[in-house]
Amino acid sequence: MRRVYLDNNATTALAPEVYAAMQPYWLEDYGNASSIHWYGQRAKAAMETAREQVARLLGARPSEIVFTSGGTEADNAALVGIVEAARSATKHIVTTAIEHHAVLHTAQALEKKGVEVTSVRVGPSGVVDPADVERALRPETVLISVMHANNELGTIQPIEEIGRIAREHDIYFHTDAVQSVGKIPVDVEKLGVDLLSLSGHKLHGPKGVGALYIRKGTILRSLLHGGHHERDRRPGTENVTGIVGLGKAAELAGAHPAEETARIGALRDRLEQGISSSVPLCVANGDPARRLPTTCNLRFDHIEGEGFVIAMDLRGIACSTGAACSSGSLEPSHVLSAIGLRPEQARSSIRFSLGRFNTDEDIDTTLEILPDVVERLRAVSPHYRKAGVVS
Ligand code: PLP
Repeated sequence: MRRVYLDNNATTALAPEVYAAMQPYWLEDYGNASSIHWYGQRAKAAMETAREQVARLLGARPSEIVFTSGGTEADNAALVGIVEAARSATKHIVTTAIEHHAVLHTAQALEKKGVEVTSVRVGPSGVVDPADVERALRPETVLISVMHANNELGTIQPIEEIGRIAREHDIYFHTDAVQSVGKIPVDVEKLGVDLLSLSGHKLHGPKGVGALYIRKGTILRSLLHGGHHERDRRPGTENVTGIVGLGKAAELAGAHPAEETARIGALRDRLEQGISSSVPLCVANGDPARRLPTTCNLRFDHIEGEGFVIAMDLRGIACSTGAACSSGSLEPSHVLSAIGLRPEQARSSIRFSLGRFNTDEDIDTTLEILPDVVERLRAVSPHYRKAGVVS
């Protein structure tokens, strides 16, 4: 059976160049980057090269990059770090209703500790209105955190506009760019952000490694306590092999962004149009224009999403009902609920996410199989019959 991977927002395959770059750091150059001997210095040099590679991709300075264990840690470090360093008696943060759990649950945890949190709503297409963010600001607001691209819908948020608002009000601004880095241009100066999270495994790098961009002069407290690694900003012996992989992935992402974006975008469009024209009662969620070229989210009315994902998997195609970390949850997605979908509509929505290794044949195979899967599932759906769509 031919297998097709259309779940690149959950994770991506390691690029062979990344794999090759990481190899020496398992068995040969295994030094601790803090050691002053030859082994240590080789590890340190490799890590600093990776720091430069990541910084270059973001238009940042190497000294502004702190390596973490991934996107989740970077998000936690940004939110908790800024709040804990803030001096005001009352602390308020502004975020949105569609953030990834790494931000959403961190904000909820802070709320339990007395921090005030405003969650700005999004419109029906899943885009935040910067005016709503501005209206939510208070004298005691210490941080705005708005994601760059949404992991379920792919919608791209107006980060530049929000960045300008944050500057005008002199408030720190964090963006979770885990889904956008490596897929669309991300420049910290243009976006006007003070903090930005990214993760290796979303851009054909390794899992368990990421980074937090921290603009020079930003005052935040370290999440962890320990040694003096990462200029006292993130203690713990660095994951040198992973960091080397992240650096290489960043370099590759920066090498051909425009061509890659166009090619993957064309594949995504062909997939979406092909499905829409062959499957009745299929509606696209999100904003058709303001979204990642890699992502589409489609609602198949009268179908249960998990059943669909399993049926597709049995035919060799990997797609998803949304965030991988929400799989198994009975609750409908908070993102799809936030754009106004009813629970049954949210549960019948499917995310297809593409990456560098997807081909035309992958789309052909999917378009061949998918209409049949939908038809079979609807044929046994009591809702579909009840709605009178079949006799
Ligand atoms: N933020 C977003 C938008 C994500 O999509 C993810 C992963 O799915 C994360 C954060 C968490 O990143 P990591 O898996 O590296 O912890």
